[in-house]
Amino acid sequence: MVIRPQSPTSYPAKETGGLTNSFTPTAWYSLEGTEVQAIVAGTSLKNGLDQAEAAQRLERYGPNELVEHGAKGPLRILWEQLSAIMVLILLAAAGLSLFLGKLLEAGSILAIVILFVLLGFLQEYRAEKAIAALKKLAVPNVRAYRDGILTEISARELVPGDHLLLEAGNVVPADVRLLESINLRIQEAALTGESEPVEKTAQALITPDLPLSERRNMAYMGTLVTYGRGMALVVETGMRTELGNIATLIQGVKAEMTPLQQRLDRLGKQLALAGALAALLIILIGLLAGETFTDMILTGISLAVAVIPEGLPAVVTITLALGAQRMLKRNALIRKLPAVETLGSITTICSDKTGTLTENRMKVVVLDVAGHRLELTESLKEDMPAADLNKVVQGQGTLLRPPQAVSMLLVAGALCNDARLQPHKETGQLHTLGDPTEGALLVAAVENGLALERVAVALPRVGELPFDSQRKRMTTVHARPALASANGLPREVLAVWGSTGLSSHRPYLAFTKGAVDELLELTNYVWDANKFRRIDEEQRSRIQAANNQLACSGMRVLGVAFRFLDHTAISTEDESDLIFVGLVGMIDPPRSEVKAAVQKCIKAGIRPVMITGDHPLTARYIARQLGIACAEDERVVTGAELDKLDEVQLDEVLAQTNIFARVIPEHKLRIVQALQKKGQVVAMTGDGVNDAPALKKADIGVAMGITGTDVSKEASDMVLRDDNFATIVAAVEEGRVIYDNLRRFINLSVAGNIGKVALMLLWPLPFYLLGLPLEATVALLPLQLLWLNLMTDGLLGLSMGVEPAEKQVMQRPPHSPKEGIFSGGMGLHVSWVGLFIALAAGVIGFIYYQSGSTYWQSMIFTTVAFLQVFQALATRSTYNSLFSIGIFTNRFMWGIIGLVSLLQLLALYTPLRIFLGLAALPLSDLLVCIGVGASLFGAVELEKIILRGRNRLNLRQRNF
Ligand code: ATP
Repeated sequence: MVIRPQSPTSYPAKETGGLTNSFTPTAWYSLEGTEVQAIVAGTSLKNGLDQAEAAQRLERYGPNELVEHGAKGPLRILWEQLSAIMVLILLAAAGLSLFLGKLLEAGSILAIVILFVLLGFLQEYRAEKAIAALKKLAVPNVRAYRDGILTEISARELVPGDHLLLEAGNVVPADVRLLESINLRIQEAALTGESEPVEKTAQALITPDLPLSERRNMAYMGTLVTYGRGMALVVETGMRTELGNIATLIQGVKAEMTPLQQRLDRLGKQLALAGALAALLIILIGLLAGETFTDMILTGISLAVAVIPEGLPAVVTITLALGAQRMLKRNALIRKLPAVETLGSITTICSDKTGTLTENRMKVVVLDVAGHRLELTESLKEDMPAADLNKVVQGQGTLLRPPQAVSMLLVAGALCNDARLQPHKETGQLHTLGDPTEGALLVAAVENGLALERVAVALPRVGELPFDSQRKRMTTVHARPALASANGLPREVLAVWGSTGLSSHRPYLAFTKGAVDELLELTNYVWDANKFRRIDEEQRSRIQAANNQLACSGMRVLGVAFRFLDHTAISTEDESDLIFVGLVGMIDPPRSEVKAAVQKCIKAGIRPVMITGDHPLTARYIARQLGIACAEDERVVTGAELDKLDEVQLDEVLAQTNIFARVIPEHKLRIVQALQKKGQVVAMTGDGVNDAPALKKADIGVAMGITGTDVSKEASDMVLRDDNFATIVAAVEEGRVIYDNLRRFINLSVAGNIGKVALMLLWPLPFYLLGLPLEATVALLPLQLLWLNLMTDGLLGLSMGVEPAEKQVMQRPPHSPKEGIFSGGMGLHVSWVGLFIALAAGVIGFIYYQSGSTYWQSMIFTTVAFLQVFQALATRSTYNSLFSIGIFTNRFMWGIIGLVSLLQLLALYTPLRIFLGLAALPLSDLLVCIGVGASLFGAVELEKIILRGRNRLNLRQRNF
């Protein structure tokens, strides 16, 4: 019976290939899969949509994405800028100036407000754009049929009618009706709140009005496939999905405040307070010296404005966002902005082996059966034309017959397998799709003459237990071949049923492949010369020895076994009493760039740790090749050993070894926690469904862009687009540069502000001390202060954010995330530089004042400006001299310096000077100002020489 739901229509006639049925989307569960298929796709079941139809539908339904309501539009950004505390204080200051009748000052403060709001707006807008671009990239890929071929497409491109594959680890990308479900379990907490996964089916459900949680033949956008696999038909996309209805966003790059941002926010407020206090003090001093109230209020306001670091929020936002973009160029996609900063303080990188440290280009090189070893060092069919290989797959061509004993191994490896061999769209060359380990088995089978398609038809799969990293094996159940189809099978496989003993009456054959050590424990027989015999101790040790020997040379080794069954509904208990067939050894070479990256890590004080599900000997071999382990007998700790350790012992073990093998994802969590307890900042990689908790727990969870499951990506802070360990190291390097640059900006800004405040407050001191009459109470006029503030905080500060990496950035230990902004000697540095600015400019002003000069104030003004220009140059590196890092390596800064100098000259030599209360300086005096400015450069460079001398022995440096 089929329930015919009523209006409104979701797929009007013209959109469903002329069908006129009207169905509400909620009732897809009540129809047979074929009916839904006919209505929604309007095409034959197997091929999915063709590209042209898919493109049309994409046009009609729009991309499959949720519209984010919380996204920041330009107006919201502008409003946030206008309502920032610092801007409000400035506006109040402008209002007060206006009230006092000081139009010029009010106008200047307003000009500053407008400039900073504009600057902040542009920076934020750019940052938002950068983040939006990152978000787009964070959308997962899905496997859907297009033009009859299983193709990887972005989830954004899915349209109703698409036919797609769901596998453990996928986030369901749209609302779908399941057409096939093999042990498919889906966790629907995102929609129903229920965290226990639901077992799914492909059957029609005829009960009317089923609630969402009971529509077991449907799967909904945003839910997680935790087990099994299935085929599904997309019925709704984007905002028309159930998730779209409740409009919560699950995907994307989260814009959170980084710890440094929070600290800077606090610093900004503290500086504003300090500015207010300094303002009060100067007002008091002025009033005591007999200045007018209005003048002193204005001076106070200007000083407060000078202390407020207006440029700070904009510089921080843009530095982080552009940093994330730079990381993307190096293949690291940042999903959570704080990661940009945390990356800089990573002390340990725990990495998977397969695909991250190695290439994941598996190739079968050894087949080992009952004491016979076949080495496939050269591919038999390396140069075989694609067309011929295709023929072999389909069973129409003949290649070498495989040596008798290995047929069973090849058939089992090819059938207990979810990968596919597919011709490339353009070249026709066969390539594998799916897990590279399984792909390698398919290739080995074909290259040895196995007609894959015919074998698959002859022994159809009727049940399965998917691979999971806990069991480390996979089993598929196959029906006994009908005589008609049996001629695709090698004789040895057919002989299985003919052999005496366990077999003949049982209709099903189960193939199991997986980690040899555990498979052997489930084995009672061996397959030898078309017969099975009870396994004896000698055979066990021979298999164990062969396994170790292959693993010792860095190979991934899989064991293959089979058994007979009389049922298809298989459970893990059926993975027992196995008949062992043989071993398959695969090579997976280390990635060429990783060795250098490991060296870089070690130099940077970062410890690389390998955590793998693979065999301990394979792990050790690869670790040695890459420099993660040095000794030949380096200790490898296995998951089983980890289980026996208590916390204290685990700490000891962690101090001794960098290699963990045969671990399950739960062990990763334990390792992260133990490392963090020791104060380590940990990056952890992961690709599987079960890796999510460890990724979440790690300071930086790193997911694999190519092989990683959606679930692991969702749990991560960063996704490696190339799955490469070297990319993590590159991202760490960028993280350090960003942190350094932010600190440089603060260094420049705070020292400059201390300088200006100290100058204003200390100016009257010598007059009092020497008993001289004080006719001019203020060193700088309000407008002059505001102008200088604009030059330094506004312009020079910006150029700090783009400083390239220092040479030693990866040769010093990571900075601690707990250390304060002014740690590592920066507090002392900004204090003395600030005082230097105040004293240098003050002394010049005092000398000129005493000598009766009329332009003593212009001298102070110009000296402060050039002091800060030279300070900016010297601050580019905190350890190396400007000459060694390359004078012109930050061209942007030179542009800014040119601009600041030009503006400074305009202020002195154009009518602007009247407005600013300045005088045109004679050239010689201008040179004096520049010379005094340069003296600060000399002083900071001298400090660096002293530091370098002190640090030469141990390369530890100040890291700001
Ligand atoms: P890493 O954690 O470094 O990526 P890995 O990929 O080797 O290591 P797993 O994928 O958990 O870790 O694999 C663990 C073991 O399971 C392998 O050593 C292998 O013996 C077995 N194995 C891997 N893939 C399959 C598969 N597709 N079918 C059956 N067994 C497999």
